[in-house]
Amino acid sequence: MAAAQQATVDTGKVKDLLAAHRAEMKRYLSHCMHCTLCAESCFLFMARDKDPRYMPSYKVLNSLGVLYRRRGRVERSFLEKIKKIVWRNCVLCRRCYCPVGVDIPRMIALARAVCRSQGVYPDFDEQGHQESWL
Ligand code: SF4
Ligand code: SF4
Repeated sequence: MAAAQQATVDTGKVKDLLAAHRAEMKRYLSHCMHCTLCAESCFLFMARDKDPRYMPSYKVLNSLGVLYRRRGRVERSFLEKIKKIVWRNCVLCRRCYCPVGVDIPRMIALARAVCRSQGVYPDFDEQGHQESWL
């Protein structure tokens, strides 16, 4: 894991993953009106006293949105930064409702795939438990 953490990002692999889903993801990103309606249906947002960092739209825009904006050219430190968003702050439960059909969990799942492709995983404590989201 230490070696993986120090390795440079294989941007070719990241670009391939993004390209494979570009049309669908770009559609979602451009359709989002930032209305925040999805937030009320996200139990993590509600359980965190409506902390804006747990809003579904915030989570995708600051993970997958940035990956597309930078065309996959990101540093490992960026992937380490977003791993909390994609592994801890969303559990892919699919409860979030979007009136225009933006599929938040599909977007977070792709951001996870990008992290996974570079060996970036959630943190575990000494007992092997994943960091709690609540
Ligand atoms: S994902 Fe949908 S519900 Fe959420 S802010 Fe964007 S448009 Fe609104
Ligand atoms: S899929 Fe993620 S963003 Fe949507 S309701 Fe579940 S935890 Fe919240």
